[in-house]
Amino acid sequence: MYGFDLENSYTLLPDMFYTHIQPTPVSSPKILVYNHPLSKALGLNPDELDSNIGAEIFAGNKAPAELQTIAQAYAGHQFGYFTILGDGRALLLGEQTTPDGDRFDLQLKGSGPTPYSRGGDGRAALGPMLREYIISEAMFALKIPTTRSLAVVITGDPVFREAPLTGAILTRAASSHLRVGTFQFAAQKGDIKALQSLANYAIERHFPHIELSDSTQATLMLLREVIQRQASLISKWQLVGFIHGVMNTDNMTISGETIDYGPCAFMDTYHPQTLFSSIDRQGRYAYGNQPSIGGWNLSRFAETLVPLLHEEQPVAIEMAQEELNKYIGIYHQYWLQGMKSKLGLFNQEPEDEALIKELLQLMEDHKLDFTNTFVDLIKKTWPEVDGFHDWRQQWQQRIQRQQQPMEEVLSLMKQSNPAVIPRNHQVEAALESAVSQNNLTPLHALMKALATPYDHSSDKEPYTAPPPPSNVPYRTYCGT
Ligand code: AMP
Ligand code: MG
Repeated sequence: MYGFDLENSYTLLPDMFYTHIQPTPVSSPKILVYNHPLSKALGLNPDELDSNIGAEIFAGNKAPAELQTIAQAYAGHQFGYFTILGDGRALLLGEQTTPDGDRFDLQLKGSGPTPYSRGGDGRAALGPMLREYIISEAMFALKIPTTRSLAVVITGDPVFREAPLTGAILTRAASSHLRVGTFQFAAQKGDIKALQSLANYAIERHFPHIELSDSTQATLMLLREVIQRQASLISKWQLVGFIHGVMNTDNMTISGETIDYGPCAFMDTYHPQTLFSSIDRQGRYAYGNQPSIGGWNLSRFAETLVPLLHEEQPVAIEMAQEELNKYIGIYHQYWLQGMKSKLGLFNQEPEDEALIKELLQLMEDHKLDFTNTFVDLIKKTWPEVDGFHDWRQQWQQRIQRQQQPMEEVLSLMKQSNPAVIPRNHQVEAALESAVSQNNLTPLHALMKALATPYDHSSDKEPYTAPPPPSNVPYRTYCGT
């Protein structure tokens, strides 16, 4: 009746990869938001689960199946420094098989301490969990691979940060929670058999077309696939101005989904150095650095695969290096293709990249809004700034040199440029209202606008304006 069809294939991996652990019960769980479309897609009955029973299940008070919950072990480079980590405040309820036959992890985030909590309380506050809910669902609507959010439950128990805050648990759906950091964990243990089982598991789960029989070849293919998916993912982030904020290797999936919406935020005014996270003092994860950090993280991934790639280490390293060398070019192709679509370009011309770069330079020089500048091109509401007139003429001439009629150009541009993104000031206003005033109306209204970002109709307008000018830069926090 609820629709759960849960398994835990992860527990077939060697014991070192997880710990059996129960969620810590909470006092009075209540569902605050429940994602009906996602619930249906997962095969879970929203009418039964958006309820008191659902609250008990998604708070960890009631088990949805006779299945032991687990916390996963992993490691990761955090801001460049290697650390052993693990699910410190999350639990895997199980893997749900959907009516379409796909497998999704259902994870409770904020469900209590685990052996990997490292002194943390294992809990989460309402604001950050709602923030993940809003932004991950916005990313999904933007057609960017992402983990998704099924429900946010308030626990009835406070969590103590600088002040007592409302405690909450997010139910996250992910095509898996395998991270670069999961591989780093196995590699650091020096257990090649365990590493091999992990690689096989990742292949079977995400790249089933890869033949496991030849393990060297399979590992090479795995590396290639992960490079492709990350290059594609990060290009998509760049194209909408998404700044992840904490691209540590433990927050980088093997599936190529965006994960861990902590200090992430969308860029308003275009600048490559845009950065919102309060903890990123060096700007390591600034907007313009994301592609190269992706490469750095992939190098850490490739390092873990060395023992599986070839029995002779120098050969293995060379094989890995050869693949890694291709990353930035692959990324660049995805980005260029995406940027061309944003400008309504169908075919290739040698000067296209220069045209794109000039536009970005104009945006930077004149502090233009990244999202709205592209929308302005669709609406022909050009910014009145020096140099824009010339650029626009070049662009229009370029468009005329291709065969497609203007109608098709505009249609491509509309599909490639969101009218709405989760603007920081709008997200904050919705959260403030939900958390401090217990009023979810602004959050639902915002989410409704974010659900169809490529719909350029005028009812989107309340959500398209950049933030009012402010002397205080917008800052995000990790939300622990
Ligand atoms: P994140 O920055 O959210 O990717 O988290 C990094 C690590 O810290 C992960 O291993 C988390 O499980 C852990 N962590 C974050 N918040 C808490 C918390 N409140 N209690 C325990 N562990 C936490
Ligand atoms: Mg994380």
